Amino acid sequence: MTSTSTSSIGAAPEDAAPPAPRHVGQPAWRPSRVRQLARAAMSAALPRRMFMVRGPKATPGICLTFDDGPHPQHTPRLLDVLREVKVPATFFVIGKHAERYPEIVRRIAAEGHVIGHHTYSHTRASEMKNSELLQEVRRTDRVLSEITGKGSRLFRPPWGKLRAGQFCRLWSAGYGVMLWSADPKDCNCKAVGPVREWFERKPLLAGDVVLFHDDQPYAAEVLPELVGDARRRGLEFVLPGRWISIRSCAASTVGRD
Ligand SMILES: [Zn+2]
Repeated sequence: MTSTSTSSIGAAPEDAAPPAPRHVGQPAWRPSRVRQLARAAMSAALPRRMFMVRGPKATPGICLTFDDGPHPQHTPRLLDVLREVKVPATFFVIGKHAERYPEIVRRIAAEGHVIGHHTYSHTRASEMKNSELLQEVRRTDRVLSEITGKGSRLFRPPWGKLRAGQFCRLWSAGYGVMLWSADPKDCNCKAVGPVREWFERKPLLAGDVVLFHDDQPYAAEVLPELVGDARRRGLEFVLPGRWISIRSCAASTVGRD
C-alpha cells in the first residue's frame, strides 16, 4: 500500500514499527516534517470536535488519555490512582480487549471517565480499506454500547495515522478523531525512570493532551507526582468535553480541582 504512506496524516510515535497489535518494544517514531505540517494545518483549520491534537492554550486544562486497554492488572491499578488524585481521564479502548474485560470497562464508565475507541483489533489503518476501518469502529461502538449502555463518538487510530479518505468516512459517520500533543513514550519503556525524566524535560503545558498506555504500569507510578506538579503550576485536569461537544463526553463525576 505505497500510496498510504504519502497520504496518511497524523501523529504516531510508533510509526516505523512493523505491524503488531501492541506498541511495546517498538522503536520510537519520528514524525516527518510533511506530516507535522499537515497535522498542524488540519488542527488549525478544523473544529476540535472533528480533529483534536490539543486543547486551547488559553485555558489551564490538560487531558490525560490512555490507549490499548483495558488490561486486567494495569487498568484497575491506574483507576485506583486516578481516584486517589481525583483526576478524570479518557480511555481509548481496543474493542476485543473491552469484550474480554467488560467489568473493567464498566468501572471506567462508572467512575466518570470518558471512553473512546481505538479500533476492534488494533490493526494499522494503512492496512485496512476505508470501509474496513469503519466496520472496526462500529463494531467497537457496539461492544461499548452493550457493556456500558452507550457507545462513543471519540476515536483514536492506532499509531495516530489515518488516510485522508478514512478521516472523511469517520467524520461523515459522526466520529471525532483525537490525537495527542505530549507523548512520554511509556509503551517503549522498560522502567518508570525514562517516563519520569521525559516529564522533567518537558513539563505539561495548558492544553496538552497526554498519551499514556494502560497496558503498561508506568502511568500509575508517575501520576501522583505529575498531577501534584501540574496543580502547583495552576493547571487542572479535564475531559475532552470541556473543549469539544461530542455525545460521549459526559460531564465527569470524578472530583475536579
Ligand atoms: Zn494503540
